[in-house]
Amino acid sequence: MAIDPSFEENREVAEEHEGHEVWGPVEEPETLGIHGTHVAVDFDICLGDGACIDDCPVDVFEWVDTPGHPESELKADPANEDQCIDCMICVDVCPVDAIDVDAGRAGRH
Ligand code: SF4
Repeated sequence: MAIDPSFEENREVAEEHEGHEVWGPVEEPETLGIHGTHVAVDFDICLGDGACIDDCPVDVFEWVDTPGHPESELKADPANEDQCIDCMICVDVCPVDAIDVDAGRAGRH
């Protein structure tokens, strides 16, 4: 299952984390939602592969610990999504299609 590219229509903002929005539902530690809006990472799909962290040319992502999550206990958090240059490398390298990038979406929220 890939991230829902229409999550802004299908989900509600549940909380803020490190300056970016988290789209629910969130029920820690098993359900963590989608982090970010311009650069969105579905934490419930992310398995902590790290390709996005290695390959992003402007270091948008940072590791966060997510102990107790069934997929992985590390996630790639779009902590610096404002720096994104829309190259789409992260979308291409993610092995589980957990990332969706849309600059226009950020402007709508
Ligand atoms: S689209 Fe490019 S710049 Fe933006 S987060 Fe992904 S890899 Fe980084």
